[in-house]
Amino acid sequence: MNDNGQLRGGIDLGGTKIAAIIVDADNQVLGQSRQPTPTGGGPADVARQMAEAMSGAAEAAGVKTRALQGIGVGSPGDVDNDAGTVSNARNLPDWIAPFELAAALSKQLGSAVHLGNDVQVATRAEFELGAGRPYESVLGVFWGTGVGGGIILNGVPWRGRGGAGEIGHTVVRRGGAQCPCGRRGCLEAYAGRGAMETRARNEVDKGTKTELFKLMKARGRDRLTSSIWDQALQQEDPLATELIDRAVQALGAGIASAVNLLDVEAVVIGGGLGVRFGQPMAERISTEMHPHLFNDSRPPAVRVAALGDLGGAIGAALLAA
Ligand SMILES: [Zn+2]
Repeated sequence: MNDNGQLRGGIDLGGTKIAAIIVDADNQVLGQSRQPTPTGGGPADVARQMAEAMSGAAEAAGVKTRALQGIGVGSPGDVDNDAGTVSNARNLPDWIAPFELAAALSKQLGSAVHLGNDVQVATRAEFELGAGRPYESVLGVFWGTGVGGGIILNGVPWRGRGGAGEIGHTVVRRGGAQCPCGRRGCLEAYAGRGAMETRARNEVDKGTKTELFKLMKARGRDRLTSSIWDQALQQEDPLATELIDRAVQALGAGIASAVNLLDVEAVVIGGGLGVRFGQPMAERISTEMHPHLFNDSRPPAVRVAALGDLGGAIGAALLAA
């Protein structure tokens, strides 16, 4: 039996949804709650929705948020935990200037709030508790709205000067497709769910037939979620199949290049699409990597994230340990 002081909160702030959990001292999930990420307004509105999700998770776990040991947040953008701010969160509404997220959440939830980079905390969670546990050096690849990366070398996170791990913006084709970052030929321009949706919309405008947007409407959604891509693949929708094939080829080239540089023991594939497609897709990515591997006689293990889509929130909760 845990007393409440050993319980921690974790919030994963994603581009499409906010996941909040309560964990005990053994990182077991006692309660969880989800909210959609606001698409309008600004950082204060996002913070309110995050507090709402955290309160829901606490209620499910039968604990008051003010009784928690602390709350960790995995956030996109530039995270400054010392200042308690997040800036340049470009997938979130009107969130460029630094916003005092820790203070805003702490005021609403009555508990200390710790901030971390979303991809780094998710990589740490897989390294300590998930698919990366058997290994000392791991590359986490989070395949969702964008494509993020986290690096752990000999048990230590590698952050560079703060900007390391941007595998989504490694170049897989010079002068290639336009990336949401504004550059050309990035991995994310081919594999990011956002970029794939833009491409699919352009194809439809040109008269290409697809079930993707019919499935979206049937589910009352306004964007192509991971489960919509999955369903379209299962129905062998030609456009969805073509775009995912293209994404997997780009992932193979980009991840293999990173492995050539870092020689990690394992690659952990997470993110909304990575988790949805599971280990069979991780195997396909591994196959696509192979022609590009310099040391092709000893490829790294390629594993799907074991903590599923709660990995980001579990990693966030580790920040409060
Ligand atoms: Zn880019």
